[in-house]
Formats: sequence, structure tokens, C-alpha cells
Amino acid sequence: MSFQAPKGTFDWMPPRSEWALIVRDALSAPARRAGYEYIETPAFEDTGLFSRGVGESTDIVSKEMYTFQSRGGQSLTLRPEGTASVVRAVIEHGLYGGALPIKLWYSGSYFRYEKAQAGRYRHFSQVGAEALGAEDPALDAELIVLAADGYASLGLKNVRLLLNSLGCKECRPAYRAALQDFLRGLDLDDATRQRIEINPLRVLDDKRPEVQAQLVNAPLVTDHLCGACKAYHEEVRGLLTSAGLTYTDDPKLVRGLDYYTRTTFEFLHDGLGAQSAVGGGGRYDGLSEMIGGPPLPSVGWALGVDRTVLAMEAEGLLAERARHIDVFAIPLGEEAKRRIFPLVGKLRRAGVSVDMAFGGRGVKGAMKAADRSGARYALILGERDLEAEAVQLKDLASGEQTAVPLAEIVATLKEKLTT
Ligand code: AMP
Repeated sequence: MSFQAPKGTFDWMPPRSEWALIVRDALSAPARRAGYEYIETPAFEDTGLFSRGVGESTDIVSKEMYTFQSRGGQSLTLRPEGTASVVRAVIEHGLYGGALPIKLWYSGSYFRYEKAQAGRYRHFSQVGAEALGAEDPALDAELIVLAADGYASLGLKNVRLLLNSLGCKECRPAYRAALQDFLRGLDLDDATRQRIEINPLRVLDDKRPEVQAQLVNAPLVTDHLCGACKAYHEEVRGLLTSAGLTYTDDPKLVRGLDYYTRTTFEFLHDGLGAQSAVGGGGRYDGLSEMIGGPPLPSVGWALGVDRTVLAMEAEGLLAERARHIDVFAIPLGEEAKRRIFPLVGKLRRAGVSVDMAFGGRGVKGAMKAADRSGARYALILGERDLEAEAVQLKDLASGEQTAVPLAEIVATLKEKLTT
């Protein structure tokens, strides 16, 4: 009997797996430099957290959650997204009583029972950042700039930014009603008609061409913003421009989670086919109260690690191996192995990355392993070298080989590897 990774999941395998680490690091680095601190929450939560926080009518909650019963009979759900958990933790630990905003970042696995396809998985990985407890357009702009900086630091050139405002609890109801009026007059199927009554904004997100064609003249949220929301949005736009970011206003950008208010944004990459969103986020001023907390106006984003790697691939940025070792040690014989073993440890402690030949496959096999490892140098120790207290240092690119005294090899290699 053999097993395979479940449908919609995949394994990060070397050497490509190194890119997942690099992307995770690069996407979180700008936020860390901006004072965001690390938070780690459980991979599963009380189901109610997501149904209340993310929203009953969203695809995520209605169709995509991995929900199970604990042995004690509690309904638990594998987290489909990160924000609700972070807000839950901030409320539970009373962080809102201290300095605001609370700035947090995280990274981990998320689970959605989606139709599996290229770039859309049932188990995927995100880096997220949230700034809680402040209503300040500069905070929305800061987060957007930090995400853009993350993509740019990876060398990505074709990431586009879409921007919108969804209004607030003052102006959204009137817009919602106007949109419902418009949508009720269209030729739509029953499921979509139901959606008009529960969550009309989500209809704007319908990808089907026959639906999109009917939406051309739909009322736009940006035409219905109250004075405060309009001013807030203009301030965010101005700050982004002042930071040198270009963006496209997209009044139909609603995103698939119910908790968003005011600023919403999405980063797209055009080399990814249908699943073009590499990240997104927005402001969620009401979420804390929705899950039983105090008023806590907040903004955040989640960036997809898997899709960012795919975007890099589409731009040809993965052509080179992300990482390889510097030195491959090859002992010829048992005595040589006993001598080279502590030397390998010493080199590693000196900051050199070193692997060695294991399994006694003979010189030929060992040289092959050295080539495959991507190392710049092979360190070969034979019987005659042992007598001479020396080791052969072979440049694997040029084939050039020199004997170096064992006592000097650490210093020699360190010097060669820094040039
Ligand atoms: P969302 O929480 O849906 O706004 O997702 C934020 C980002 O996570 C998206 O822009 C994607 O890059 C990534 N993402 C979301 N769902 C998936 C999925 N099923 N598979 C891979 N990446 C995903």
C-alpha cells in the first residue's frame, strides 16, 4: 500500500522548498522592521470564531471549512485565515489595554476546502500582519507599503495593487440598499438571487462573464461613501502616492470576507492565470465587536507564500538554486573519516556550510555527490594526506586542486569563501 499527499495539498521538496523559506522571510521582514511583533496562534479554533468573524454567508464559512468535533463534543475548525485568530488572542490576553496600535505579524498554514487547481490549494501558507486599535489612514498606507516592499525585495516586477474603500457602518447600509435594488432587476440564478439578500457586495465579485456583463452599470461604493470615509480614503491614496506606489482604483473590489470596512486592497500578479491574487487585506473596524471584544479599529493583510513562489517562477526568478553548501568533504578510508569528521564540525562552527560523503560509496560516488551538492569546493583526505598532515582542496568548477595543511584549512576556506 502506498500513500499520496491528499488532494489539494503538495509537498515542498528540495531544492525548491528553500524558496518557500526565503519568501516567508522576505514578506515578513519589512513588517518586522516596522515594529510588528511575532504572534503564533493555534491551527484550529472554536468554529464559532470563524462563522461569526469571517461571516456565515461567505464561501469560506459556508463551503470551505474543515470542521470536526473534539472528543469533548466541541466544534473545532482548522483555521481558514489568520485575522480572526489574532483578534481573538488580542481580546483574550487584554492587549488592547496597553499601547495602541498593537502591531503583530504571523506565518503559517491555512486550510480551505477549495476546488483544487493551479495556485489554489486546500492547505496553503500565508504571512500576515495586523495593526489593531487605531483608526489612522497612515496605518493602512503603512501596511500596503510594507507588503509592496516585501514583493519588491524578492525581485518581483509585475505585482499590481488594486485599491478600494467599502465604507463604514454609517454609509454602507444606504449603498447596500441601492445595490440590492439594482441587482434585483438583473437576470440571475436562484443562488445569486439569495446572495443579493444576504451579502449583495459579494455579487460584484462574481467571476462569470454573463454576470459581469450585467454589472457594468452597478452603483459603485465609492460614489456612496460618507464624508468621513471619503476623506479617509483620499488620505490613504495620497500617502500611497507620496510613498511612490502606483495603484488602480477598483470600486468593485470587495474581497471574500465579511469583516472588511473602508480600505480594501489586493495585490495581483498577471503571470498566474486565474488565481492571480498574491495577497490582500483591508480595514476591519467591526471585527473585534463581532466576536465579543471591545471596539478595536484595525487593518491588516495576508500574503500567499505559495503563490508568491509561483509568481517568482513566472518571472524567471527561480532559475538559480536558492541555496547550496560551500564544501563537500570526502574521506578516503576509515582513518581519514575519523580525522575529517571533527574538521567538518569545526568548519561548520566557523560558519562554513559543509556536507560530507556518507555510506562508503567509494571515491567515484563521493565525487558525484559533491557535484550534485552544488558545493564550490571538495575537501579530499587520503592516506598520504594523513601522513603529510594535509588535505586536498579541489575547486569543483575549475578542477584545480591544491594541498593545504590541515592546521590551516579552516582559515583558508573562510578566506576563499568570502572572496
Ligand atoms: P485571503 O485570505 O483569501 O484574502 O487570501 C490572502 C492570500 O492568500 C491570497 O491573495 C492568496 O495569495 C493566498 N491564498 C488564499 N487562498 C489560497 C489557496 N486556497 N491556495 C493558495 N493560496 C491561497
